Amino acid sequence: MADPRFEGSGTDGAPGNPRRLIPRTDRVMSDPRLVAAARALGPAVVKTAVLAAQELARNGQLDPAFVADAAVDALPVLATTLRPVINATGVVLHTNLGRAQLSPSAVDAVVAAAGYVDVEFDLGSGQRARRGRGAVAALLAAVPLAGDAMIVNNGAAALLLAVTSLAGRGTVLVSRGEMVEIGDGFRLPDLIRSTGVQIVEVGTTNRTTAEDYQRAIRPDTGAIVKIHPSNFRIQGFTSSVPVAELTGSGVPVVVDIGSGLLARDPLLPDEPNAVAALLAGASVVTCSGDKLLGGPQAGLLLGSADVVSRIRRHPLARAVRADKLTLAAIDATLRGPTNPTAERLRADPNRLRSRCQALAKIVEGELAPSMGAVGGGSAPGLDLPGWAVAVPTSLAPILRRGRPPIVGRIDSGRLLLDLRCVPEADDHSIADAVLNARAQEFKT
Ligand SMILES: *Cc1c(COP(=O)(O)O)cnc(C)c1O
Repeated sequence: MADPRFEGSGTDGAPGNPRRLIPRTDRVMSDPRLVAAARALGPAVVKTAVLAAQELARNGQLDPAFVADAAVDALPVLATTLRPVINATGVVLHTNLGRAQLSPSAVDAVVAAAGYVDVEFDLGSGQRARRGRGAVAALLAAVPLAGDAMIVNNGAAALLLAVTSLAGRGTVLVSRGEMVEIGDGFRLPDLIRSTGVQIVEVGTTNRTTAEDYQRAIRPDTGAIVKIHPSNFRIQGFTSSVPVAELTGSGVPVVVDIGSGLLARDPLLPDEPNAVAALLAGASVVTCSGDKLLGGPQAGLLLGSADVVSRIRRHPLARAVRADKLTLAAIDATLRGPTNPTAERLRADPNRLRSRCQALAKIVEGELAPSMGAVGGGSAPGLDLPGWAVAVPTSLAPILRRGRPPIVGRIDSGRLLLDLRCVPEADDHSIADAVLNARAQEFKT
């Protein structure tokens, strides 16, 4: 008789075949640790881990007696497949790692907004209220020059919505020097054309003048669009037209500043900001929420009350509106204390050096100067001098697959672990992980 506790005890269950001894799924799932995990993470997540452990046992890579233990070890911490990562790249707004890290107050706001919230409801009157009015008010408090503001899904959506609602099926003027690709093959001109707006290119790649714009204005010109070429720099014989010289023609001027700097920042002197663009006469400014603003993925529109109200009434506005979690995080980012993005851009090099020195000593790595970067297509020319611990590149895949995963930067044949974007409390996790990785490498 086959033992009913095990599966695979039928035809292929030759004596000595480990497949005979694979414990049945329901039996493994009844392990108290996995029962508890199923309650927290959902049965599907636990079952996936159990099936994977059974598979390892079937392939002879795991002693069948340890299937439950292996499943417990492999369980994710969260029900999501997104894994929190330690960013040791030195790139503050790493697009592949989710750009800005939210401040603790923004995280709390997101958690609070996860349930029912008054996002579109006035508790005083019991009536429907303007969606996300608190976040909009915070934005207007930060940029009082704006008559009104709006928050949408992301920066691309903000630009798309502004251009489409102002130009409809007409045309917009864009300088040739500002026809940019923002990454991963996405080109802003394609985005603009995607809703039927036609682009009239003005000027040349390196030089565009105010006369170029003036000459190109026609009755169907819905807007002049200025795009900040945020992820590259052209040097040499160049000129572009300041926003102030584009206003006054009666055509609304849309300025995409990209990085979400609301006001001038001495650390980022070349980065355009919303206040300056509005002062210069922009009708509406668009930008991202998860770049220099340090908030969640979002698109911000700030402008004159009549232009923003035109934009808000466009049918596309409903398709790109921000969700309540985003609104809560933007609100808290604007009202709360300094966020991690701002802090990391200003990280004290001396402090970074002493942390790296301590880490290097523990893991037998080498202290190395490391140039951090803003990232996220922001401030491409700005260097952030800092420090890192250099270890062999062979550790990179082991660290990436660790718990938590650690992502460093390969530079000149070494793996640099730059601590700029690592919370100080995580330094010891990095030390443990590198020591483990070294031991693991030694074994194999
Ligand atoms: C980043 C960027 C965008 C796109 O913003 P997302 O929030 O990523 O959609 C658009 N324009 C400029 C100039 C940018 O820098």
